[in-house]
Amino acid sequence: MASVKKLAIQKGWDYHKNYMYGKEGGYLITVRQIIDLYNSRNNCKLLYIPLPTLTAGDSEQLLAYLKENKKNLKVAVFEIVNSVVIIRLAEGLKGFSNQDLDHLLSDLTSYLKKNNISSTPTCVYCEKELVDTTTKIDKIAYNAHKECVNQAKSELEQAKNNFEYAEKNYGKGMLGAIIGGLIGAIPWMLLEMFWGFAAILSLLVGYAAFYGYQKLGGVVTKATKWLMIIPIVMAVFVSNIVSVTYAFIANDIEITVMNYLIIYTDKELGTLMLQNLGLGLFFGLLGYFSIYRKVKNSEFNRVIE
Ligand SMILES: [Zn+2]
Repeated sequence: MASVKKLAIQKGWDYHKNYMYGKEGGYLITVRQIIDLYNSRNNCKLLYIPLPTLTAGDSEQLLAYLKENKKNLKVAVFEIVNSVVIIRLAEGLKGFSNQDLDHLLSDLTSYLKKNNISSTPTCVYCEKELVDTTTKIDKIAYNAHKECVNQAKSELEQAKNNFEYAEKNYGKGMLGAIIGGLIGAIPWMLLEMFWGFAAILSLLVGYAAFYGYQKLGGVVTKATKWLMIIPIVMAVFVSNIVSVTYAFIANDIEITVMNYLIIYTDKELGTLMLQNLGLGLFFGLLGYFSIYRKVKNSEFNRVIE
């Protein structure tokens, strides 16, 4: 299966860390190799063509064309997001060859040209013509004016600075995370009480804590990543204690500190409880970190080159 790097070499296009850049029929093309270490089924190649002056009518027409030519052009999935057409290439068993790419690009760009869809290069920032450079926003190539690129860079810098000094609502966010974490722990607690083993459900604790954090207005920053561990650990501990308390009530055992100490230090029961606690912590944090990878403060993580 031809990698993006190989395709770039064959076409004589620029290549930089899983992205290749070139031009076809006056249109800027970016092809990105997606490598998902967690799930290889997500591995694919995405092709991006910015069409800054795309109208609603153009958009409809273009989608119809892609739908009609899906097989012929080896297009797996396509969509238009913010005037950029994004195509997931159909690699199948034979992969996506240099010839496939040539065929897709020449057909697609001549279709765009013929229908006068964004055929005059315009600046991604000011939408005016007579572009004099290209810029990359989050690694996708666009036409632009040098002046507009510089302005966009300094505005982004300014926004980042403002963000740094803005109120982050950590307090409210953490309160939300604790409430969220405890609510997320309910299915786990219930199953634990009535069935015994359900630590995997504590995956929900991480999700719910993070949801609660944002729900109460907590701003997601780099520090949030580490702060969130506290409410998740708390929610898991509380759930564990609630399960034990339930067992006390169900077995007519008096709820005293001494009895808790006895349970947790008991050779058999205590080991079991600590195992549950450990698994709960493991899955709770795993759930949280699995979503954290996907949560980005896109506006401020944006990279302009
Ligand atoms: Zn401009």
